[in-house]
Amino acid sequence: MKRGLRHSFVVLSCVVGTLVNAAEEPPTTAPTPAPATTAVSETLKPKGRLRLLGSDVPPGTRKKLIWTSGAAMEGFVSPVPVFVLNGKGQGPVLCLTAAVHGDELNGIEVTRRVLDDLDVEELNGAVIGVPIVNIQGFYRGARYLPDRRDLNRYFPGNPRGSAATRMAHSFFTEVVKHCSALIDLHTGSLNRTNLPQVRADLRLPQVSRMTKAFGATVVLHSVGERGSLRRAATDAGIPAVTFEMGEPMRVQSEQVEHGAKAVETLLYSLGMTKQRRYWGDPEPVYYASKWVRVDHGGILFSDVALGERVTEGELLGVVTDPISNQQHRIYAPTSGRVLGMALNQVVLPGFAAYRIGTATTPSKMSKQSAEEATEDSREDDEAAPTEELDSPPG
Ligand SMILES: [Zn+2]
Repeated sequence: MKRGLRHSFVVLSCVVGTLVNAAEEPPTTAPTPAPATTAVSETLKPKGRLRLLGSDVPPGTRKKLIWTSGAAMEGFVSPVPVFVLNGKGQGPVLCLTAAVHGDELNGIEVTRRVLDDLDVEELNGAVIGVPIVNIQGFYRGARYLPDRRDLNRYFPGNPRGSAATRMAHSFFTEVVKHCSALIDLHTGSLNRTNLPQVRADLRLPQVSRMTKAFGATVVLHSVGERGSLRRAATDAGIPAVTFEMGEPMRVQSEQVEHGAKAVETLLYSLGMTKQRRYWGDPEPVYYASKWVRVDHGGILFSDVALGERVTEGELLGVVTDPISNQQHRIYAPTSGRVLGMALNQVVLPGFAAYRIGTATTPSKMSKQSAEEATEDSREDDEAAPTEELDSPPG
């Protein structure tokens, strides 16, 4: 699709000790070394009796349950399907949530594929999949809830607050509390796109271990916004990461394929499945990143593609003022890789256009201050239209 993606298997850093020679780029069918199963899964809470949303789900069964938030008038209630696959074997409960932002479609398809590939006879542990958490936003093709609030700022919620915070509370207590670990699937915000990447608070040992099990996937350190599902889950002792891929409003086959493969690699690494997925290079790549902003308004045309490696001083794109005809070039301030970028569009001065990542190690990144790491993830969301009438949770 895009020229940078072809190079996504080149090794930039080695973090789990196995040295891989970047010069001999392995074919995509090269065998993956046996995963350090215990390292990732031994600290995850094993499943107990699975009873949620008013139903028992015995081992060896697959059930479709329904969660309703109650935050709607009778007759306007939108039932949200919750799939529970309880394996015959012991293991943790992995939760997959998608479309917390209703217009982010790639994760819906990733969830469907992963659930469809699982066999409860063979599964160790359980998987809870919620393909469309914000179903009202999904129906309207919108990121937000009908009251224009961002659901992903209200977790873990409160049963006596605003509609959004009540809904968050209901979902958190009725579904998320049952998870031993959680992957929340997202895409870039409006008119931006992200290379498939894991966002995680690398200061938390269980979370950091999880990030090593998604195959050759980019990992960024971010503490997570207060009120986000990921942050609320980790605060409640449930290791959680966000998986970002592609752009909203579209279903993108390459992004979905990477996402499904990464989640299935994690399932295998946790000892939950026997289905090994093959990566040319199984190592994750840890990046520190900064947004490059435009200093002039106009129409942005990019010269680089998502995933491309750039060198310091390389032309990233050009902003042309449609009235004065003036052109302003944007250059890479540092060498690195384009991990996220704006699609071609009209931009205002200060608009964050390119996220350039430089390879680093998890330990270096986890030393980044909480403020810096939060600021970084906040900038990623800023392209979202600010139509939401945001008020503090509660
Ligand atoms: Zn999102």
